[in-house]
Amino acid sequence: MKTPNADFFAQFDNESLVAADKAHYMHGYHIFDDHRENGALNIAAGSGAYIYDTAGNRYLDAVGGMWCTNIGLGREEMAEAIADQVRQLAYSNPFCDMANVKAIELCEKLAELAPGDLNHVFLTTGGSTAVDTAYRLVQYYQNCRGKPEKKHVITRINAYHGSTFLTMSLGGKAADRPAEFDFLKDRIHHISCPNPYRAPAGMDEAQFLEFLVNEFEDKILTLGADRVGAFFAEPIMGSGGVIIPPAGYHKRMWEVCQRHDVLYISDEVVTSFGRLGAFFASEEVFGVVPDIITTAKGLTSGYLPLGACIFSDRIWNVIGEPGKGRCFSHGFTYSGHPVSCVSALKNIEIIQRENLLPHVEEVGTYLEERLQGLADLPLVGSVRCKKLMACVEFVADKASKALFPDELNIGEQIHLRAQKRGLLVRPIVHLNVMSPPLTITRAQVDEIVETLREAILETAEALK
Ligand code: PLP
Repeated sequence: MKTPNADFFAQFDNESLVAADKAHYMHGYHIFDDHRENGALNIAAGSGAYIYDTAGNRYLDAVGGMWCTNIGLGREEMAEAIADQVRQLAYSNPFCDMANVKAIELCEKLAELAPGDLNHVFLTTGGSTAVDTAYRLVQYYQNCRGKPEKKHVITRINAYHGSTFLTMSLGGKAADRPAEFDFLKDRIHHISCPNPYRAPAGMDEAQFLEFLVNEFEDKILTLGADRVGAFFAEPIMGSGGVIIPPAGYHKRMWEVCQRHDVLYISDEVVTSFGRLGAFFASEEVFGVVPDIITTAKGLTSGYLPLGACIFSDRIWNVIGEPGKGRCFSHGFTYSGHPVSCVSALKNIEIIQRENLLPHVEEVGTYLEERLQGLADLPLVGSVRCKKLMACVEFVADKASKALFPDELNIGEQIHLRAQKRGLLVRPIVHLNVMSPPLTITRAQVDEIVETLREAILETAEALK
């Protein structure tokens, strides 16, 4: 899309939009009192890394939508590919013996890009349904192989795996567990978050790594290895605060999984499709070949909803054993939606043709360096960045790492000051999180860092 002009924005009646939003639109993570009083930032257009509100204000979207606008917004060739597919075949039944050309092409492509023997793909409607599918696959696989007891799963504090009842229960963020909601507790176990900044006092990174690996293995042994079916892990925890685990963590956890016949499930809903400089980070960045990878978001760069659960020959050969007459009775009306699949295929083509993975290596390294320049500012406890996943954690006291009270909403305060200056970062309680499009330039990295610096300094001044 071309940069929108004044005529474009003239069509919006902001007052009635705000009123209608307040009256009818319940958002994801709806904050009732805040929304009632302040409404929302209503977005009308987007181009590249920039988005525009209905009043015509422009923002550099360092959040990348919701970790997803990888190739940037407003691509004409994407719009054309989507429109062509709508004309040709807007929908096709994905169940049983029905398939469509674009879903087939996409599954073949994903099998080619995924590591190891991950050659089988179940297409879903997004990340939560991909993780949900992975969990059901674990159950199905263990039952098929005659190990019905082996269905306990281990996940981690601060993990985020989605918003369905099951995936929220797999998640481990305290802020996502308000008393008003219930959670599934049966057969789900949480172990420590591998955050080196918050390692137990006195432990260096190497000791912390040993602690984490031993804790995991102890948990399996305590539950009984014959009862533990799978381990779920994001390569880098995203909404848990861009947690970059100690070096070697994933490989060591994978070794534990292999020792005890536990499936390793890598939730790459955020980390795949270029965010860490690779199509999939599990093997290329962390040296692990998982049994299952879940992905979504950057798979279509957010142009249309789609997710995928990609799994190994090992699982396929058990569940699909010839002659057993089984049916994997699981499926969504929009699994393999042809228009979503076209957007994923076009997205992958663009990432490859424009060499966006090497670009992320370069510009992501630059973001890492530049953001570290904020570490000495007041309020800043920790700066964490790996390629295009970044986070600044704010503390009340740098020495003790004590946090501000939640009610102070420090992340939100800084986010709002950045927003006034034309930059969007994502506030999560004590954090500001960033995941800009892969197309981001060095100049835009400078804009992010300098604007955030001003917002932090102004907030520090206001808190004096
Ligand atoms: N898994 C991870 C690691 C995520 O970050 C998310 C969303 O942020 C999900 C799963 C859920 O994806 P969706 O919102 O598409 O359902």
